[in-house]
Amino acid sequence: MAMIEKLPKDFNIQEIEEKWQKWWMEEGIYRFDREDRERPTFCIDTPPPYPSGDFHMGNVLNWTYFDIVARYKRMRGYNVCFPQGWDCHGLPTEVRVEKEYGISKTQVSPDEFRRLCVEFVNRYIKVMKEAIIRLGCSIDWSLEYATMNPDYWRRTQLSFIILYEKGFIYRGTHPVNWCPRCRTAIADAEVEHQPRTGTLYYIRFPLKRGGHLTIATTRPELIPACVAVAVHPEDARYRGVIGAEVRIPIVDRTVKVIEDEDVDPEFGTGAVMICTYGDKADVKCVAEHNLPVIQIIDEDGKMNERAGKYAGMTVKEARRAIVEDLRGMGLVEKEESIPQEVGVCWRCGTPVEILVRRQWFMKTRALTDEVERSAHEVKWYPDYMKWRLINWARSLDWDWVISRQRVFATPIPAWYCERCGEIIMAKPEWLPVDPRMEPPKVDRCPKCGHDKFVPDGDVLDTWFDSSITCAVHAGWPDDMDWRLFPADLHPSGSDIIRTWAYYLMVRHLALFGEKPYKACLINGMVLGTDGRMMSKSLGNYVAAQEVLSKYGADATRQWAAGGGATGSDIPFRWSDTEYGWRFLRKLWNAARFVSIQLQDYTPTESAELQPLDKWLLAKLDEVIKKVTDALENYAFNIALDEIRNFTWHVFCDHYIEDVKHRLYQPDVYGEESRRAAQYTLYRALFRVIQLLAPFCPHITEEIYQRMYAWKEGYKSIHLSPWPTPTEVDEEALRRGDMAVAVIETIRREKASRRMPLNAPIARATIYAGNRENAEVLKAFAGDISGTCKIKALEVSPMEGDGAEVEGFPEIRVKMEPYPT
Ligand SMILES: [Zn+2]
Ligand SMILES: [Zn+2]
Repeated sequence: MAMIEKLPKDFNIQEIEEKWQKWWMEEGIYRFDREDRERPTFCIDTPPPYPSGDFHMGNVLNWTYFDIVARYKRMRGYNVCFPQGWDCHGLPTEVRVEKEYGISKTQVSPDEFRRLCVEFVNRYIKVMKEAIIRLGCSIDWSLEYATMNPDYWRRTQLSFIILYEKGFIYRGTHPVNWCPRCRTAIADAEVEHQPRTGTLYYIRFPLKRGGHLTIATTRPELIPACVAVAVHPEDARYRGVIGAEVRIPIVDRTVKVIEDEDVDPEFGTGAVMICTYGDKADVKCVAEHNLPVIQIIDEDGKMNERAGKYAGMTVKEARRAIVEDLRGMGLVEKEESIPQEVGVCWRCGTPVEILVRRQWFMKTRALTDEVERSAHEVKWYPDYMKWRLINWARSLDWDWVISRQRVFATPIPAWYCERCGEIIMAKPEWLPVDPRMEPPKVDRCPKCGHDKFVPDGDVLDTWFDSSITCAVHAGWPDDMDWRLFPADLHPSGSDIIRTWAYYLMVRHLALFGEKPYKACLINGMVLGTDGRMMSKSLGNYVAAQEVLSKYGADATRQWAAGGGATGSDIPFRWSDTEYGWRFLRKLWNAARFVSIQLQDYTPTESAELQPLDKWLLAKLDEVIKKVTDALENYAFNIALDEIRNFTWHVFCDHYIEDVKHRLYQPDVYGEESRRAAQYTLYRALFRVIQLLAPFCPHITEEIYQRMYAWKEGYKSIHLSPWPTPTEVDEEALRRGDMAVAVIETIRREKASRRMPLNAPIARATIYAGNRENAEVLKAFAGDISGTCKIKALEVSPMEGDGAEVEGFPEIRVKMEPYPT
């Protein structure tokens, strides 16, 4: 009784994909087994995305990469921990909620605002979860988490308390990057540097002793905040004015001319004003020279009363007004356009100001050496990406500001004594806690005995939530499974190494004295069809849902895996998914052919293999080895190319074509020869779908379940063991390559004479060029004559005339077709 199902001619990829996605979930095929102590574990630190509702092609690339890893490792015998979380908090969500509802966070109560955020996030989590499932990712959904849930708050807050107690977290009054639109402090990593064209104003500052000094600035509106004028100590032009007093126009104040190594004598006039604060150089200079701080910009980006008559204006308005006034006073010497870099908020694009604010900080710079050491211990794919982390860590000149003046985020678990200001830090057993809603569980201030407290109204940077995922995945703090920590693989985009990879690193180093991940897999950016960055505004944007609807997940995943070298930016090309789709069609047709040919076949372990069968199996061993090596190094494109080339060209174009005569004519070529071909087809197709399973999980499952499950016995192809690379039979390979090259030559000859491929040939002579070749080719004589329909085939050890066989110049083929 035939157990191998005959595959139908057509297949509906959307139906197939949906069916298996549902079945995998119902059956818990990808469940991580915590109790299993036998298999080694493999833990993937899946990034928890912002629930933006848009699972874009960049996400497709990213998730395809590490889903291939998860599936491959599972087949290699690992107990794979592949969780999925959602990074709900923070500015991006708040900004979107404000936009969507047309409100600002200050217009509604924090409770109401939070409710809107949660609603918004839940809605978009659903959309993104569907997209991840639709892409065929083998996530263990029983491990799903959201950073806005109380249980996750507890973990984030606990990490805050531990780091505070360890001395890694402090509260201080320091200059911070401030977004006037979002009205919050933001970290260096959240400041984006955009190139713009600015105006450089040359402005005369009168010297008190007479004459003037011309300074150059792009920010004249900061003149009321000027606290010094600085020149380079070796700048001969200004040697005489060091220590002199200059009168600041607009406001009636004088400041000193100071010398500072950091002033660039080439910029403008070589004399610059130091303001509080125009940029980080100002911050450094003020600290070094112990200068006063005059803050003229408020939290909403408007000038305050210290800006005199400009109070109430925006920064832009004040600039215009001050320049106008300076012109009127005859103090503007020159104006010129210059290219400049402006720091803007990465979420809303508003230029960032530097304000002095009391905030919470994490001592990240103290860890820079350790970060660098650990980065070298981590295996990076590709290797050069580690320098992005190291260079970023080294470039930081401020500690990480971790407090935010927002609503929807994890609250800082602290209160202050109303009388003496003593910090009352929450105890671990009080967590999760929202100090804005409940008082501390103490009766009196331990310092002064007062009994009234005020909550810390601030919240934590969202990166503070998501930078403990490696430990959380391992069960921290309640149920830490040290097999899962450090994570085996951390996947990240090349654009978020400075945030995602970096924050994970510093946080876990500070908490555990251990790096968070052993390996880092970096994906590049997805470019539009025109090779530029993919973006809606450039008109080269392609929505992931559109691609998935048109070609299905298995074709889309082939684009992602095969589009380019790991870590490089890859363009989206419809032709790649189209090719992926055609490959699925080819695979299906081949599998259908095999299924039909195997209807009377009982899979057995032994068969008297013919040389061509041995050749195919040797080729397959070679491919298994190459694919395994490539996947061990996360070289997805190389692995996929190998599998597709083998399937399409070796298996379909050659082997299947070259054994048809044995399958169709057992009376001529023998029953045993037919069974050997059946055996080879059965084994080879099974290996092909196994190798392909991590890339195209749906179609391979479909073929497996219809043809192989009953015999091979694994519940799913994704639970079957990865084929072990065995030693390649080089001799079988060499012999078969020679025979296949001869068949190829005869086909080419037929084509050049405009003969149909199946046209019979009266006689042909192969001049093998030597005895050894002749012996090899004699063994394949049946295959050659059967495939090429040669009535009389002679293999001669002599050299002779005829068509040259590619790769074997000593071999010639001479054929004599029937007269037409
Ligand atoms: Zn902003
Ligand atoms: Zn007190």
